[in-house]
Amino acid sequence: MFYIEIFTVICLGLVLGSFSTALIYRVPKKLPWGAERSACPKCKANLGVLDLVPVLSWCLSAGKCRHCSDEISAVYPLTETVSGALCVFIYLVYGLNISSLFLMASVPFLIALCVIDLKYMILPNQLVFILMGIGGARLLYLFSLDENFQTTDILTVYITGAFAYGFISWFLGFVLTKVLKKNSLGFGDVKFFMVAGLWLGIYALPYFMILSGTLAIVFALGWRMAFKQDVFPFGPALIVSFYFLLLLQGFF
Ligand SMILES: [Zn+2]
Repeated sequence: MFYIEIFTVICLGLVLGSFSTALIYRVPKKLPWGAERSACPKCKANLGVLDLVPVLSWCLSAGKCRHCSDEISAVYPLTETVSGALCVFIYLVYGLNISSLFLMASVPFLIALCVIDLKYMILPNQLVFILMGIGGARLLYLFSLDENFQTTDILTVYITGAFAYGFISWFLGFVLTKVLKKNSLGFGDVKFFMVAGLWLGIYALPYFMILSGTLAIVFALGWRMAFKQDVFPFGPALIVSFYFLLLLQGFF
């Protein structure tokens, strides 16, 4: 049973990763997600089923387009592999059930946000709002499991969580902007904090702040050394902390 389940999860993770690469390519260019078929960016040849098997297609074609032999970036199979791995970790902690499917459904959007923020320094609204939507659906599901209808618990833990995370991050950004005299925290980041609050709940707030703050400092130093820039994307630190704490909550 374990092998069947893990095989299913790996396949699901790879397919979600493939979806994620489509988001990374299409969302910043404001292209519709699924309206048109995937095509080679160079020769525009439509990609068939054979070209679209995650990871495998790339390996079999040695990283080249079958039509024009142009190189296909290794970012694609890499993204798919990361997505597969993130889903496997979720499975190992939570098993395969409706609850864990909500978490896996968030994976392609988390990866897309992370990569898009690294490339363009924005967290696109539509992706953040989708994560908020999946988080809301998960709350409704958790609520439906609760036979005693202890609404107040879900309300206080998650919904006040969303507002508390949002408010504190906005406030910190406001103070930092005054002190450093430059824009320190984008509104995209504040919205992501709200999403984190909605998923993680209010009790995880201090851990999220400490973890994402620490990661952001490490990341900012690395960014400065690599690119000689003071401005760095905050999203990846937030997204890594979010995913890590979500996994960690599975142990409690
Ligand atoms: Zn091509």
